[in-house]
Amino acid sequence: MHIQLADVLFGEEGRPIHYEIPVERESVEVGGACFALSEKSPAILDIVRTDGQTVKIEGSCQVSAKIPCGRCLREVETPFKLAISREVDMEKPEEERIQELDGANFITGTKLDVEQLICNELLAQWPMRVLCKEDCKGLCSRCGADLNVSPCDCDRTSLDPRMAAISDIFSRFKEE
Ligand SMILES: [Zn+2]
Ligand SMILES: [Zn+2]
Repeated sequence: MHIQLADVLFGEEGRPIHYEIPVERESVEVGGACFALSEKSPAILDIVRTDGQTVKIEGSCQVSAKIPCGRCLREVETPFKLAISREVDMEKPEEERIQELDGANFITGTKLDVEQLICNELLAQWPMRVLCKEDCKGLCSRCGADLNVSPCDCDRTSLDPRMAAISDIFSRFKEE
């Protein structure tokens, strides 16, 4: 969904216009992977013109994304509370504006791309790793069993290359 900023730009200075824009995007792409957005509240935005042609965008939006647990891959409903606070000088050329916004181009001409704005905020908050629970036991690296459900009989110590390297060091110490 787009907001036509002409209404703000030609409107009264200092008087915000209130928008409630539904988020239509069904998924978000992060690092080449696609994540479903399960819950989305409308984006609540107040947009105001100040100092001539500066546009201030303040708002909030809540979305939930399904992110696989870093250990067992089970999908975890991860809520995001996005707070939006942006200021754009519309008198500046588009290229300069984009640079100032760290490459985020959610305004083309006088059109504000709400989906893009929300997406930028979401990516900024995206967690490095999500766990379904702090003590998730993960998957067995040999048989793939979910160790949260039941333990398996595999000998996993010999399979982890990092563990193997450590035990190599220890055995070398013993030999010397
Ligand atoms: Zn897990
Ligand atoms: Zn196993």
